[in-house]
Amino acid sequence: MSVQLVWFRNDLRLDDNPALHHACNRKDDQVIALYLLSEQQWDNHGVGNNQRSLIIKALLQLKKSLKQLNIPLIVKSIGQFDNSANALSEVCKSQGVDEIHFNIEYPINERRRDKLVVEHLSQVKCHRYVGDSVTAPWQITTQSNSAFKVFTPFSKACYTYLDSNPVHCYSIPDKRDAQNFNVINTGSDPIPDIKTSLNIPNIDENFLANQLDGFLESKLEDYKDDRDYPYVPGTSKLSAALAVGALSVRRCFEVASNSDKEYSKPWLNELLWRDFYRSVMWHFPHVCQGKAFNSVDKYINWNKDDAQLKRWQQGNTGIPIVDAAMRQLNETGWMHNRLRMVVASFLTKNLWIDWREGEAYFTQMLFDYDFASNNGGWQWSASVGTDAAPYFRVFNPASQQQKFDPKAEFIRKWVTELQGFETSDIHKFEKKALQNYEKPMVDLKFTRKLAIDSFKSAKSAA
Ligand code: FAD
Repeated sequence: MSVQLVWFRNDLRLDDNPALHHACNRKDDQVIALYLLSEQQWDNHGVGNNQRSLIIKALLQLKKSLKQLNIPLIVKSIGQFDNSANALSEVCKSQGVDEIHFNIEYPINERRRDKLVVEHLSQVKCHRYVGDSVTAPWQITTQSNSAFKVFTPFSKACYTYLDSNPVHCYSIPDKRDAQNFNVINTGSDPIPDIKTSLNIPNIDENFLANQLDGFLESKLEDYKDDRDYPYVPGTSKLSAALAVGALSVRRCFEVASNSDKEYSKPWLNELLWRDFYRSVMWHFPHVCQGKAFNSVDKYINWNKDDAQLKRWQQGNTGIPIVDAAMRQLNETGWMHNRLRMVVASFLTKNLWIDWREGEAYFTQMLFDYDFASNNGGWQWSASVGTDAAPYFRVFNPASQQQKFDPKAEFIRKWVTELQGFETSDIHKFEKKALQNYEKPMVDLKFTRKLAIDSFKSAKSAA
């Protein structure tokens, strides 16, 4: 009998967890689980109370679910992220661990940490698996073996790869012998308290399985048409569960792939956008260090204007669709994808405020904060990323709201001071003063032209 340790990280689930599955391979082995909690890592990334609380909720659930399998979960508060290797080493010694299993994380600090861990624990066998993406970044490369910088060819290469290597998910392992649970004194630290005042998304595994099935059964067919309209509940809203690994993206892909090909493709593509940004992070790790993918960013003099930034954050810009979106974010910890693009374009192009400020605010507020997708989305919107929006594409919030919220239903829901106004007046916000509502904080046409001109100069300087 040997001792197998599953090191949980951003894969807080039992279903389709490759590390857990392999640790449980041999019936007679003792299996224990570990989570290293670093408040410092959250602080360094600026992760706010919303996602912290979600992780804590996921941990509490995981502990319970593992208990049902007779697998004890040890939680260690390690303070500094850099203490990971030492903390792991201590647990291995005290529990007599023979083998460690974990799913690979792609950001640069996590990669460094894992390298250190493997070196540090030379006596213990470390097994690594792909559990946080449909494809692994090193599996999908161009014919000349380099990284893709554009999504469409990347996704084509993914589909080709997946045709011959389809995703096979792992089911929840069988319950272990009760003795497994009792043999050790875990010395676990307490799990911290939940701090957010917002409703934390439900990430119970059964609930998520139903949510996924329900979405695939009743919404997938219309996803292509509905996904852009913020007042229609047409998207899966699974992002928070995916971000903390309470749900497996591989499971989502596998199940959706079994639906009708034609209409599942748009949603499968979105899951592959998640892979794409992971691939960018893996192949171009400088994006993890506050740097833009494209060097043009260095030649841009972003405005530093805290008052304007605050108005954007609070949803008091005087642009109805931007305010509605920011208030949705502030009150629920989630924002519709179309609106993430609209508010990001407004901040970076119309206010000319550094995309890092927007990225940081989203990190602080989102339950579904995911470094790769957030960083990729912000760089895309600011036209400084890999597969970025061309710099002359500046979303016009006025036409965006007319197109995607034609009856101003979403706007009225979140900007309550606009509830009594006619739709046509709400859409004419640039020309017509709306009582008790802010005037637009900037002139959209003028700032758009300024942004395009400034970008042109930055590009010629780069
Ligand atoms: P669905 O439409 O149902 O899509 C299914 C899943 O696919 C999502 O849950 C998500 O995991 C993935 N996905 C969908 N769209 C994208 C995309 N454009 N890029 C990467 N993955 C995608 N997504 C995050 O999960 N975390 C973030 O921190 C994040 N920040 C963003 C910031 C900006 C500026 C932008 C433009 C987009 C950002 N996104 C982020 C992507 C996207 O907005 C969300 O994934 C989506 O709105 C989540 O809602 P859903 O689960 O209903 O998505």
